[in-house]
Amino acid sequence: MRLTMVFRWFLLLGLMPGGLGTVSAADMRVQNIRLGASDGATRLVLEISGRADFNVFSLDTPRRIVVDLPSLDWPDVSASPEPVGHISGLRFGQFTATQSRLVVDLNAPAIVWRSFMLDPASGFPHRLVVDLKTSSAENFAKQVAADRMAKRAKSLTPSSPSVISPPVISQGPREPNPKPVIVIDAGHGGVDPGATGRKTLEKQVTLAFSKELAQQLRKTGKYDVYLTRSRDIYIPLRQRVNIARKHKADLFISIHADAIKRKNIRGMSIYTLSETASDKEAEALARKENRSDIIVGFDFDDHPPEIANTLIDLSQRLTKNLSVEFANLVVKNARGTTRLLERTHRFAGFRVLKAPDVPSVLIELGFLTNRSDEKQLLSASWRRKIAKSLVKSVNGFFSSSQQVRMTQ
Ligand code: ZN
Repeated sequence: MRLTMVFRWFLLLGLMPGGLGTVSAADMRVQNIRLGASDGATRLVLEISGRADFNVFSLDTPRRIVVDLPSLDWPDVSASPEPVGHISGLRFGQFTATQSRLVVDLNAPAIVWRSFMLDPASGFPHRLVVDLKTSSAENFAKQVAADRMAKRAKSLTPSSPSVISPPVISQGPREPNPKPVIVIDAGHGGVDPGATGRKTLEKQVTLAFSKELAQQLRKTGKYDVYLTRSRDIYIPLRQRVNIARKHKADLFISIHADAIKRKNIRGMSIYTLSETASDKEAEALARKENRSDIIVGFDFDDHPPEIANTLIDLSQRLTKNLSVEFANLVVKNARGTTRLLERTHRFAGFRVLKAPDVPSVLIELGFLTNRSDEKQLLSASWRRKIAKSLVKSVNGFFSSSQQVRMTQ
């Protein structure tokens, strides 16, 4: 039992050693995605190299159709067809260790009229066909409610496997640990691409940077370093927090990159948790980052109520102070190394920073919508340079906060 749990965690963390890493590798491939529209109907076709089980349901705010499938090898985002008919966009990728997901954004209320699997014929492989037709807003809402009921009924049957581990409720007293534990969180992933630049996805940039930072921190020999994800997989926000708590992390660093309408805006910024946002921009950003789960249709109802909220109310002042202390060091060491956003350190209610007992910061490395920032984010030497300045900040943090940490 316990071994299964551990195995599951390793799988989720993407930490399986070499050979075993293929456990969740997809053996089926999505070969092509096609869209067509006519007379108030829109057709979506996935050409798949084999027969796949699927589940289709609707979600609102914003209106979407979700198709859940087993792990599949998905084509590059560039292979995504131009949206037509009711469809305004497509997102796809790994959702859990054993599941992938396609999210179909709708520009108008439309319901799934039929969905079915076709056997190979006339040179085509297996095809999943989803047909949409125009509906009223009222009928769409009814469909969402019906799908939710069906999903809940299904999740109550004992046979349904749950890939998401329950949150760690209690954390025993800290045992003396020779090395500080650092958890690095590569923002977004899998079905959630995050912000998008002209050609760059946030989830790719965050992963590349997180790996670089982890490598540099490990090289010092002074820290135990974990990543929340080391591959292209979606991880719910609360789970990222739980990973930090499970490892009894002494520091949690969440890595992101932003996108904004005003393309001249650029520079790095850093955020710590506060119920009151320091400004409107910080508040809007937190709202955007917190939407990660909503956008891919992660269902909060399936999981026990949030524990972090009550605990955070107890005002974990020490944790907050340490987070601020680290953020200050990051700003200090990054100044002169790269362009910083004005008022570089800001505060807002980011869900991913809500571990009550782990000092946590969220770093927005830059703006994918700014050409110079995008170029930097794609540059391995820039990433090395910034990771180096973060290592300096981590070193400073653990030498200066040693006294404080002992009393924790
Ligand atoms: Zn982000």
